[in-house]
This record gives sequence, structure tokens and C-alpha cells, in this order.
Amino acid sequence: MAQIGSVMTSAGRKALLLGSGELGKEVAIELQRLGVEVVACDRYPNAPAMQVAHRHHVINMLDPEQLRNVIEQEKPDHIIPEVEAIATPVLVELEKLGYNVTPTAQATLLTMNREGIRRLAAEELGVPTSPYRFAGNYEEFREAIKEVGIPCVVKPIMSSSGHGQSTIKSEADIDAAWHEAQEGGRAGAGRVIVEGFVDFDYEITLLTVRSVSGTRFCEPVGHIQVSGDYRYSWQPQPMSTEALESAREIAGKVTDALGGYGIFGVELFVKDNKVIFSEVSPRPHDTGMVTMISQDVSEFGLHARALLGLPVPDIRFLGPSASRAIVVEGDTDKIIMKNLEKVLAEPGVQLRIFGKPEVKGHRRMGVILATDESVDAAREKAERAYKALEVEVLPR
Ligand code: AMP
Repeated sequence: MAQIGSVMTSAGRKALLLGSGELGKEVAIELQRLGVEVVACDRYPNAPAMQVAHRHHVINMLDPEQLRNVIEQEKPDHIIPEVEAIATPVLVELEKLGYNVTPTAQATLLTMNREGIRRLAAEELGVPTSPYRFAGNYEEFREAIKEVGIPCVVKPIMSSSGHGQSTIKSEADIDAAWHEAQEGGRAGAGRVIVEGFVDFDYEITLLTVRSVSGTRFCEPVGHIQVSGDYRYSWQPQPMSTEALESAREIAGKVTDALGGYGIFGVELFVKDNKVIFSEVSPRPHDTGMVTMISQDVSEFGLHARALLGLPVPDIRFLGPSASRAIVVEGDTDKIIMKNLEKVLAEPGVQLRIFGKPEVKGHRRMGVILATDESVDAAREKAERAYKALEVEVLPR
């Protein structure tokens, strides 16, 4: 029997969020809507999810001891990783002791490392991917490029949001790509993946929910990335029936192999109706923020519901929608989002300000959401709202 007891009592449920960014913030809100106690963790204070959680801890989640201490202190009913940079072997150990990790500890372990998930998909599941090689030093890197061929894409195996990623278009780019990957990886210098460049027609995130009701798919989310970081997304991405069916088949296979309950962002490239698996996040996906306006229950609500063991019988799609990330550049703890009367002047536009405490370099600080009659109209509306936005960056 599915049940949830009174919040903040021994009868209630407690969730520990590992990662407190904008995606974690929305998950925290959705969990609280279902009467769940939320404890948020991240490496810095005042992170977005901490601002809405019941309580928080500032810890280095990559430090196994700090991570174990917080989990043993809180004894949560649900451990919910919201970022990849976590000492996942600790989650594997604690899961064996009876802790519940979303979706599973093994899924977080495999997906934090590009090598784990790529080998699972391509070598065990036989899912189509770009050609690839892994390299642990410069000699192996040269060899890998020779085998994969130019053009190719180089990424640290532990990285996300385009950090350390570059494309080799000619021999002249090889050394710069190596240095970029050695400096941009999450765990510092280390192994890289060299992937054949896929000249795709478009790329999608197929949000896939596993729950007690089985597997359900959201409408495909199309998106545009700039230097490996998402800027625009929309839903639904127009696709042929053939491509959509094969996207669902691949997403079903990969998420079944990872197991557990929750939402997965399955990233796929599509070229001439052929679908190629790229990677998967066993958690809500940044490009899926569009579902805050396009669905009756957003990807965050679906994640909360599924991981709590509640049914997800269907997903109601409300209509063509788009999102536009607000990326701010500078070095400041004070920005002002201005001209909001113009940003929100048109019907069918929404704004989320994440509440991140500072910017160093560039950082996603908010998102504009829009709906309209068609995907093109929704994208144009989101862009008009974005163009109306002025961001003032004040000195520290
Ligand atoms: P990732 O961090 O692997 O999701 O890569 C970020 C983005 O870089 C993707 O969403 C694509 O736009 C682009 N990208 C990654 N791998 C490739 C590839 N093998 N070929 C072409 N583009 C790629």
C-alpha cells in the first residue's frame, strides 16, 4: 500500500537531496507538495534547493566520509542524487545496508562516468552510439584519434555541461583538445573519451519515467547546446514515427538496464531517421525544464512521484512549449533582472529565477518558459521575452 505519513515526524518520509541546484530546487518543491521532509546538500551555502528545503548541509559530496556522515546522521528514506559529482561508491555500500537510492546506486555509479554508461549501452545492450575510444594518456589519445578519425569530439570521462569538451576538426586541434580535457574534468586530469563527430539533424532528450505503473515517455524535447551547455529547448520536437519509435526503444532498453524508479533524461542524436544514443542522466534533465510549462506534471513532479513509489499512469502534454536559459557572465554576487514588465508582457510566458548566490565566469541563473500554437511560435515568444530581459551585473 502506498502511503505517506505526517511530515517531520517518525511516521513521515524524509528525502536527502544530493545537489541543490535549480533542478534540485524543483524536486524539493514537488516532494514538499506531497508532504515529504526535504534535506538539501551541496558544497556551498544558499544553493537554490537549500532555500526551499526544510534543512540543509554544506558538504563536499565527493568526499566519501562527509557523504557517509550526513547520510548516517539523517537516515533518510530516500537518497536523491541531483548532480553527478558525488562519491557514488558510498551510495553503493549504503544501498546494501538498506538505504534507498534514486533510481539505484548502480545507476548513479555507472552514469557519473562516461565510460561506464557508454560501455553498458554499446557493448552490453547493443544500442547504436558514435564510434568511440577511451584514452588514459597522451599516447593513447593520439592512437584513439587515429582509430576514431577526424572530426571527433573529446570529453573528460567525468564531466558535464561541456566542461573540458572540444571538437577536433583538424590535426592542428589535437593538442589543445587534450589540454582542454585535462583541465576541464570534474576529478582533474584523467581519462577521456574520443567520440566520432555525429553530424546529426537534431538532438533530443527523451524524458523517460520508470514507476510502479511501468515505463512512460514524455514528448521528445528538442534542444540547442552552445559549447556543450543547453540554451534553448522545446517540446515536442517533430520526429518521424520511425525515429520516435526507435528513440523509445533505445530509451526503454537503457533505462530498464539502469532500473529503479524516477525520471531519466535520455540524450539521443537523430540523423535521417537513425537514432544514436549519446548519454543518460538518471534524474531530471536541464533541457526538461520546459516541462514546467508544457505538462500537467513536470519532469520534477514525475520524478518525485515515481521515486516515492506512487503511480504515474500517464503524462498529460498541454501543448507546444519552449524554454530559454538565462546565462549571466561576470564576477559578482549581485545581479538585477530588469525590464520584467516587458519580459512577462505576453500571455503564456513564465519566468523562473533560480536564486544562485553568485556568478564567476558564466552561470545559468534563470529560465524563460513560453507556450504557443506551435513549437516555432513558442520558441519565438521565449526569445522575444529573453531579448526584453536586461541583466545588470553589479560589482561585489
Ligand atoms: P554531452 O556532455 O556528452 O551531453 O555533450 C554536450 C553536447 O555536445 C551534446 O548535447 C551535443 O550537442 C554535443 N556533442 C556531444 N557529443 C557529440 C558527438 N559525438 N558528435 C556531435 N556532437 C556532440
